[in-house]
This record gives sequence, structure tokens and C-alpha cells, in this order.
Amino acid sequence: MQLQKPKGTQDILPADSAKWQYVEAVARDTFKKYHYGEIRTPIFEHYEVISRSVGDTTDIVTKEMYDFYDKGERHITLRPEGTAPVVRSYVENKLFAPEVQKPVKMYYMGPMFRYERPQAGRLREFHQIGVECFGSKNPATDVETIAMAYQLFSALGVKDVTLHLNSLGNTASRAAYRQALIDYLTPMRDSLSKDSQRRLEENPLRVLDSKEEEDQAAVAHAPSILDYLDEESQAHFAAVCEMLEGLAISYVIDTNMVRGLDYYNHTIFEFMAKVGKSELTICAGGRYDGLVDYFGGPKTAGFGFGLGLERLLLILDKQGTELPVEENLDVYIAVLGKKANGKALELVQALRRQGFSAERDYLGRKIKAQFKSADSFRAAAVITLGETEVETGQITIKNNATRKEVRASFEDLVTDFAAIFEKVLS
Ligand code: ATP
Ligand code: MG
Repeated sequence: MQLQKPKGTQDILPADSAKWQYVEAVARDTFKKYHYGEIRTPIFEHYEVISRSVGDTTDIVTKEMYDFYDKGERHITLRPEGTAPVVRSYVENKLFAPEVQKPVKMYYMGPMFRYERPQAGRLREFHQIGVECFGSKNPATDVETIAMAYQLFSALGVKDVTLHLNSLGNTASRAAYRQALIDYLTPMRDSLSKDSQRRLEENPLRVLDSKEEEDQAAVAHAPSILDYLDEESQAHFAAVCEMLEGLAISYVIDTNMVRGLDYYNHTIFEFMAKVGKSELTICAGGRYDGLVDYFGGPKTAGFGFGLGLERLLLILDKQGTELPVEENLDVYIAVLGKKANGKALELVQALRRQGFSAERDYLGRKIKAQFKSADSFRAAAVITLGETEVETGQITIKNNATRKEVRASFEDLVTDFAAIFEKVLS
């Protein structure tokens, strides 16, 4: 029997999920400023939605898909990334229609699945926050989307972030470069890794992206794609660089960066963060002007990025950044004696109804243990409810930090706790 979680997955327990919620809230808040709305697509898709669009020869499709046939013999896959599903949805819901305001800006957050070899920051179920913008060819869209990621990282306190930038150009430029790269790599074919020998035929640009040492040595002096950009592609890339400079966002041009997905053209980028001596990619994206068309919609420009939540949290942790997620409680009710049990329930519910966060003892423990709970829950105020309090209806509310005490009737607590709480805290 297998009663443990599957390899490469994680349980996110409450103390951690507070951090997740914080990051997600900052992301939502940031995206709202850029006029993005949330889209939620299914966790699984038809296999074909992913396979051709992400690329038949990419690692994601050839090695990492969680695919299966369902009971209706449909070829299904858990989604490995967010862009293809969002583009599928954009077309299926006809968001390209003229009456829908352009550009259409959407973000998502949720689980993605890739059958990978698990290691730190690399999981089989992981989570991405991503954005997609449809209908703007304007290089200002590239730059504001990059700037949005940047603003999110600063809001979260991520340090030592570097923007890596490249351009794949338009289809014609990319084809010209592809041939140049084949011409360059073919004579050294034998020195390439097995995977890259295969890539050389199927998808030579991906050799640039290989993590194998022998491949990295081979491509160190490869021709640069930037020398193969035609006029249109050059103009777009120059505009992006200029606008980034206008916003004082510094970048490094990395001509060997090609990204792990096939659908990109023109601008592609990655944000890397330094942790100790190594650099980790937290966020990656770019322009994909052919993807809507591929899904059967009209030719539409697209730009987006995806960022790995686990990796972001790992980086924050390694960089020693504390997120402001300390939980606290307005009131803790210490309960003494069986007769107080019912009244404690009435009181705790009345406080919650009035909008306060409140917890109580359920276990009939000694008073000391209960006060310990109040401390560990970081309760601002403590109410002790014993048999005397139940009989007299008079109750003491204590400030758990200053020990200041306020007396009030049970009725007042039930009807107007706000006034009493204010007194206790003042
Ligand atoms: P890598 O080169 O690290 O495999 P990738 O090119 O496959 O990354 P993308 O598909 O562009 O990554 O995904 C965007 C981001 O999602 C990555 O930068 C990373 O932060 C995160 N990510 C990708 N795969 C995983 C994974 N298996 N586990 C955790 N996070 C991941
Ligand atoms: Mg990968």
C-alpha cells in the first residue's frame, strides 16, 4: 500500500499556506494595478492543446507530460503550463471578438504538472502565477509586462534579481538563424550530448538551452540570433531595450537563452535571482504572436510570463526575507468548568458574528495551559469564563500584553464588543 504523497508533490500546511496566500494577494494586488483580470481554466486539457503548441520536441511534451486516456478513450493531460490553456480558452470563448476591449489582460494561479526528476525547487506538482496579454503588438506591452513582474518582486522583497533578455525575432529571422545554427553545430555534432544530437535535427535552437556541459561548451561561440534579425525584428527589440532604459530597468542580453517552449517569437526574458553562488530562474516569458492563430483564432499578438511559486518562496527563504504573515487572534476565551461550556460557545459565536477572530478552550484544560494557548495564538485579549461569571453575568476582559482589565456584562459583550475591545486595547 502507498499511503504517502506521490513523489515530487508537497503538502502545504497552514503555517506555509499563510505565505502562499500572502504572495498570491500581493500578486493579485499588483496585477490589478495593471488592469488584469483572473482567468481559471481546467487542470486537465486535451493532450493536443499542449503537445503542438508547447512543441512536439520540447522536454515538456516528450518527457514530462502527465497524460492518460480517460474512461471515454480521450487523450488527456494534466496541464504542464498555463499559456496554452489560456490561449485555447481565449479562442474558444471568442475573446478576439471586436466587442471585447483590447488588449485582453488575464492572469492565473494554480497547479501545473510535469514528470520531472524532483529536486530543490523542482517538483512534479508545482504552482505558477502567470499573466497573458492579447492583442497588442506594441513593444510597450512587452516592457510593461516585464515591469509588472519586477514590481511584484520588489513588493515581495526579492533581492538580487536580474532580467535576462533576448529576441527570437519573427518567423523569417528565426528560420534564417536556425539554418546558421545548423551550419555551425553540424561539424561538432559528435561532441554534443545525445539529446542535443537529436535536437540538432528537430529543433536546433534548443541546443542553446541545454544544461549539459558539453553542449554549453559547443554553443559558447555559436552565432548570435541578434545578427539574424530582420528590420522589423530589430526595430521591435530596439524599442523594447529603449523603453526598459526609459523605466530604468536594467537588463542583460543573453543570446543563448531560447526558453523551453516553442511558441515564442520576438522578446523573451527570464528573471533570475541570486541565492548564494547560484542563480535560479523564478520567472520566464515572452511574446507569442502566432499562438492564437494556431488555435484557430484570428492572428493576434500575445505576451506573457509564468513564475514558479515554490521557487519564489525558496528564494525568499534562502535570502532571509520574512513575509509579514504572523497570525493573531482578537480574543481567546479561557473556559473553566463544565457549566461554562455552553455559555462559552454562545460568547465565542457572538464575537465572531460581530466580526472578531475568536478562539476558546474545548478540552477542559487547566487555566495555565489555556493562557499558554492564548499566548501562542497571539491573542490581543483574554476572557476568562468560569462558573462565577456565568452566574453573575459579569465578565473581565484582559489585555494580554498590558494586563489592563475591563469589566462588562455578558449582554454588552454579545451586542457591542467593539466598544469594549477598544477600551481594553487603549
Ligand atoms: P527550467 O529550465 O528550470 O526547467 P522551464 O523552462 O521548464 O524551467 P517554464 O516552463 O518557463 O520553466 O516555467 C516558468 C517557471 O516555472 C520557471 O522559471 C520555474 O520558476 C517554474 N518551474 C518550472 N518547472 C518547475 C518545476 N518542475 N517545479 C517547480 N517550479 C517549476
Ligand atoms: Mg523545465
